[in-house]
Amino acid sequence: MIHPHTCIRYIDDVIGYGVFATQFLPKGTIVYVKDELEIDLSPEHYQSLPLTFRETVDKYSYIDEKGHRIVSWDFAKYVNHCCNCNTMSTGYGFEIAIRDIQEGEEITDEYGLFNMETEMYVDCKQANCRRRIMASDIDTYHAQWDEKVFGALLRLDQVEQMLWPILSAEMQHALAKFKQDPSQYLSVHQLKWEGALYKWNGKG
Ligand SMILES: [Zn+2]
Repeated sequence: MIHPHTCIRYIDDVIGYGVFATQFLPKGTIVYVKDELEIDLSPEHYQSLPLTFRETVDKYSYIDEKGHRIVSWDFAKYVNHCCNCNTMSTGYGFEIAIRDIQEGEEITDEYGLFNMETEMYVDCKQANCRRRIMASDIDTYHAQWDEKVFGALLRLDQVEQMLWPILSAEMQHALAKFKQDPSQYLSVHQLKWEGALYKWNGKG
């Protein structure tokens, strides 16, 4: 579920829709939670779908650490990638604002954490634009992404968390451990789906 202080807006014919903040969202705000209403497709279920369904799923889903395709039931699926994103997936099952997001600003994400099966070409007009987003980005960049997520997590208790009630008991437990001892931090690298490697090696 996406944060209630967001809306969907049409950007242009190339980008399509995007998600925008309708109020100021400070760094440390949980902006998206992978909640129990999300559509969760196992690899077997996905493979059994007709092509038309698979194409739609490919467009709107991300792949989690178990290789499942997750399609958001709300407009979280319209959040676009930016190489200088303002929210990021965490090892805790939610996304967090890694810097202050102003009212009216587009909410953006790092697709390098989404286990993409094909490369994606992007032009996000940022000085650090990588141009190509691929699954192996998580190996290359996880340390710098962790730095941003870690800093945001330290502010969890200092900002309003409207999505707190929908965090699962498991998520809350992992966060409690982090608050007690930040060295227990769960890296974004654990979002990597290792199964893809087996497939490429012809073992699966
Ligand atoms: Zn870019």
